Amino acid sequence: MILFGDYHTHSEYSRNGHGKGTIFENASVAQQKGLKQIAITDHGFNHRLFGVKRRDIPDIKEDILNAKEVTGVDILLGMETNLISQNGDIDIKEEDYEFLDVLLMGFHKIVKMDKFNDTMKLSLANICTGAFAPSKELINRNTTAFLKALDKYPIDVITHLNYGCPTDTLAVARMAKQKGTFIELNGKHICFTDKELDIMAGEGVKFIVNSDAHRPDRVGECNRAMNLIFKLGIPLSQVVNIDKLPKFHQKRGQN
Ligand SMILES: [Zn+2]
Ligand SMILES: [Zn+2]
Repeated sequence: MILFGDYHTHSEYSRNGHGKGTIFENASVAQQKGLKQIAITDHGFNHRLFGVKRRDIPDIKEDILNAKEVTGVDILLGMETNLISQNGDIDIKEEDYEFLDVLLMGFHKIVKMDKFNDTMKLSLANICTGAFAPSKELINRNTTAFLKALDKYPIDVITHLNYGCPTDTLAVARMAKQKGTFIELNGKHICFTDKELDIMAGEGVKFIVNSDAHRPDRVGECNRAMNLIFKLGIPLSQVVNIDKLPKFHQKRGQN
């Protein structure tokens, strides 16, 4: 059971000191750990604190080229985009596909939402629920937003599903399967039950194991997810980056 690639790593381009290392440092750790490929997936543009700036994209591309050359690790340019509306919009434009090798999407709290109503109903509603049991209405609203996003965009990976935004896990996973989207088994946040994971696996949902590293030394650290796969006997044929390299939606994975 060998991890071939880590497709959710943050770099210093996640602003305000959120991502700690350079792209080169992420790639160096990946090389030391024997990974063949990684993705640099900093926070999407609408994240108020940590989002990448559009003007940084040329520098990110250049850093990736240099790091690839020195380390020999293949590096994809991705982004962890944000859900920004109840209507399933995410913070990306059509022209961004040109530079994106892999498209991740997740819910984050401190994000500039599409409309005031989305700030109230999606952002604040989830923040206020916090540790309390979420209402059925909130779960339904969150689920609808995820289903619409999956339908509208060629999303490769749903990151840390249910983290800060509870959904009907199985409804989202079924739509993901239909759309060729992978459900992430995140190195830090796995917010569904073993039973739900078992049902997803039984229905043929595809998974991807990622670290969500915010520091170079965390790149490739996915023990929690690996242990879960082992414990529940998830078929490795359904985990797209163990013992093989994944194929993503677009031109991705072969540069
Ligand atoms: Zn995230
Ligand atoms: Zn992340």
